[in-house]
Amino acid sequence: YFDVEEFDAEGMPVEGGEGPEDVPVVAVVGRPNVGKSTLVNRILGRREAVVEDIPGVTRDRVAYDANWRGRRFTLVDTGGWDPEARGFMARVSAQAELAVAAADVVLYVLDVTVGATDVDEAVVKILRRSGKPVVVAANKADDQRGEADSTALWSLGLGEPQAVSAMHGRGSGDLLDALFEVLPDAPAEREPTTGGPRRIALVGKPNVGKSSLLNRLAGEERVVVDEVAGTTVDPVDELVELGGKTWRFIDTAGIRRRVREASGHEYYASLRTSAAIERAEVAVVLLDASQPLSEQDLRIITNVVDAGRGLVLAFNKWDLVDEERRLRIEKELDRQVRVRWAPRINVSARTGWHVDRLVRAIETSLGGWETRVSTAQLNAFLGRLVAANPHPLRGGKQPRILFGTQPQTSPPKFLLFTTGFLEASYRRFIERRLREEFGFDGSPIMISLKVRE
Ligand code: GDP
Ligand code: GDP
Repeated sequence: YFDVEEFDAEGMPVEGGEGPEDVPVVAVVGRPNVGKSTLVNRILGRREAVVEDIPGVTRDRVAYDANWRGRRFTLVDTGGWDPEARGFMARVSAQAELAVAAADVVLYVLDVTVGATDVDEAVVKILRRSGKPVVVAANKADDQRGEADSTALWSLGLGEPQAVSAMHGRGSGDLLDALFEVLPDAPAEREPTTGGPRRIALVGKPNVGKSSLLNRLAGEERVVVDEVAGTTVDPVDELVELGGKTWRFIDTAGIRRRVREASGHEYYASLRTSAAIERAEVAVVLLDASQPLSEQDLRIITNVVDAGRGLVLAFNKWDLVDEERRLRIEKELDRQVRVRWAPRINVSARTGWHVDRLVRAIETSLGGWETRVSTAQLNAFLGRLVAANPHPLRGGKQPRILFGTQPQTSPPKFLLFTTGFLEASYRRFIERRLREEFGFDGSPIMISLKVRE
């Protein structure tokens, strides 16, 4: 129940409503032989992007990280897609439909030495209906004459044709500028994650030892706010120096006040916990090692995972734990807590035992939270995964994963473009394998599907 996936109740992926993605997807579409692969290589500016000829894997390795004027985008070569489609026309229009479903922007490639064919006209209709921005690349404009020929492509009704020679590079800068113009705006920065101290929330049910741990951590190490350049500190936060770094502990006023209101209002306490988690980058969930895990503990852990924050589990009051209790804790963890990926420490706020291990656990979580996998690495991984463990056949159908990207970190978020809905067990399998392959220790990961109907 800790698998975080963005699906609604019917198991369909959530689309839209999450604001723009960090990294837009640009699909390269066009008839065979117009020069799509050559153009992709030209844009990437590297030779090794040539799609490798490994049967079964080739088709999945179609997406690459690209960059123009500091703006990242994912470039998708649709050339190798959709083996099911039969015939010329079917193949190209299937590509176009996929591109429309999957991409933010379409780069439509034509060959100026051939001009627009009936197939192009048909595909362009699909593209125009979609309302997605389309940039027309008039390729093989190797010389002046080619450039002149490109003007005939105004007739497509998709705006100015960009004359380009993928082979020689002529016009490719202008083409990329035109593309740059129509890329969706980069989303506004969220609370900056660089520069200032990292934000940590200490959370847990009442009496678990938050206040004691905070005192232990902040005790002698409290930082005078004025000393930290460029920080404005919310009066409820506290800056604490640990392991040679300054950390911002969120809503410590709430923690301290909690001690005074011996029987505070449960509801407000939980609101306050949620707000602290929301503001934090990593939440340290304190658990009372001397007591069985409670519903409330599990709720707080779920809260952290759902908020997409880094997670550290800290069993406090370890000084009260005997051998029998220790074994029981392991059993409870196995049975009830599915966040195997979270670093776990045992501490005693009272004696100070192992409190110094907290920093390393927090750093592990931050590392997992900020892990980015390149599109090439991700698709090589997906190719291997699907080759070894294809999705089970259901009713004679087998959804295929076309490609994947990781548009976001903090927490890591993956988008998989598929030809059908993936079963929950298969999605969990993908998450498990992603973790085995790339880490993400201490961080939830989110997987969304974009399904082509
Ligand atoms: P795709 O099927 O659309 O991916 O096309 P390719 O990239 O495989 O290119 C098809 C053929 O066109 C290859 O022989 C390329 O060398 C050639 N080609 C690609 N771009 C250009 C170009 O700008 N000028 C010329 N003259 N030939 C090109
Ligand atoms: P908070 O409500 O989560 O802030 O919890 P407090 O820090 O106020 O602690 C609640 C009670 O647990 C107090 O009586 C603490 O002395 C006690 N306590 C906190 N940490 C430890 C610990 O590591 N070991 C033991 N034995 N008691 C602790």
